[in-house]
Amino acid sequence: MDYLPLHFNLKDRHVLVVGGGDVAQRKVDLLLEAGAIIRLVAPRIKSSLQKQLTARHEIIEGVYVQTQMSDVVLVVAATSDQTVNTQVSNDAQEINIPVNVVDQPALCSVIFPAIVDRSPVIVSISTGGASPVLARHIKALIDTHVPEGIARVADYLLQKRAALKASFPDANTRRRIVESFLNGPGKELVINNQPAKADTYLSETDSAVGEVYIVGAGPGDPDLLTLRALQLLQAADVILYDNLVSDRVLQRARRDAEKEFVGKRSGYKSTAQEDINSLLVRLAQEGRRVLRLKGGDPFIFGRGGEEIEALIAANIPFQVVPGISAANGCAAYAGIPLTHRDYSQSVRFVTGHPKDGAVDLAWEELISPNQTIVFYMGLGGLASICEQLITHGMSSSTPIAIISKGTTPDQKVARGNIETIAKQVAQMEIESPTLIIVGQVAGLKTN
Ligand code: SAH
Repeated sequence: MDYLPLHFNLKDRHVLVVGGGDVAQRKVDLLLEAGAIIRLVAPRIKSSLQKQLTARHEIIEGVYVQTQMSDVVLVVAATSDQTVNTQVSNDAQEINIPVNVVDQPALCSVIFPAIVDRSPVIVSISTGGASPVLARHIKALIDTHVPEGIARVADYLLQKRAALKASFPDANTRRRIVESFLNGPGKELVINNQPAKADTYLSETDSAVGEVYIVGAGPGDPDLLTLRALQLLQAADVILYDNLVSDRVLQRARRDAEKEFVGKRSGYKSTAQEDINSLLVRLAQEGRRVLRLKGGDPFIFGRGGEEIEALIAANIPFQVVPGISAANGCAAYAGIPLTHRDYSQSVRFVTGHPKDGAVDLAWEELISPNQTIVFYMGLGGLASICEQLITHGMSSSTPIAIISKGTTPDQKVARGNIETIAKQVAQMEIESPTLIIVGQVAGLKTN
């Protein structure tokens, strides 16, 4: 190991920073976050830097001399003058004060890592000075997987420490309890800011109930998953998914999680909503972390509302994670702005699902001008939808776009007007799922 990582307590300790430009500024920002008292030395100092340093700090507008190192616990050189940088490095090392010269590993006795800051949890990443870009790349990977709420988990466990010690004097027992807490629903409850509910999981019994995560999977492209969805996909024991969830999204789940299809697929008997509700309750009662993965957003034509009613009735803890709904995803990937200052001041999401061959909606409200209408589940009723819009007074030249398999590599967009689109589409092979967007915005040339 070339460098030993240590986390340095700099609260109210003096640090010498030599340099007064942008590079010095970045280091000063970091040192201030750590609570250090700064002595800043440079012949010229950026005005923003001068303003930032309050009376408790010291600003020396002048040249660097070694005596400025008295009382300091760390030295940072951030000048563009190689002679000064080398001098600072030599002087500090001579009197055994840790020194960092920005971007010059050969002159450093300590180096700044890339940092993932979820204080009190801090992850530092170093490549030993080989490549700061690589360090930042690794930081971004870690950033994705460590939720902001991990800070709450650290605070929570600190708070419980004394009580745990009193209840479980044996250190091994304590370690086991905390480990199973971190691998169970307890940790996610604290992350989600529900610490009171988490308490039951800090015990020796395995009888505690599990938790249900109702998670939006987005419209298809796995890169449109939220960070929270990804984190829970990695945590869940069982995943119940429906047919709108793409294989590529499912591949992001924990490898050894049980995956069960509960959607509708032609040729298969679909799972009734009541059966899904009871399955969620049963699995959670067995103590498992159950992730209910739904296409788009769970609360937009997703029956997420019915599922949480069942969970509330059975007293099962749950979380809902929003997803990018088909309207947002398809519109963005097809280059159609859903609202536009000049053409559309409101947008409506409606179901176009036909009942007995006809689509029954409040058509008068829908045809109002300067409004975008997004029809979910509307392909089967397309002819009926267009006919109704025209009958109720919408201009037959109103633009319409049909987006099939939006956001996936197979996305297809058909554009036209509401008078002719049904015929046009009948001659094409349009595969579901499809989303329909009606309004002036559907006719804009944006990509
Ligand atoms: N909860 C989902 C919607 C479920 S209803 C959401 O928020 O997106 C199912 C309808 O969503 C489909 O009939 C279709 O109209 C639309 N849909 C979902 N994914 C889609 C996609 N990738 N491309 C086009 N339409 C999609």
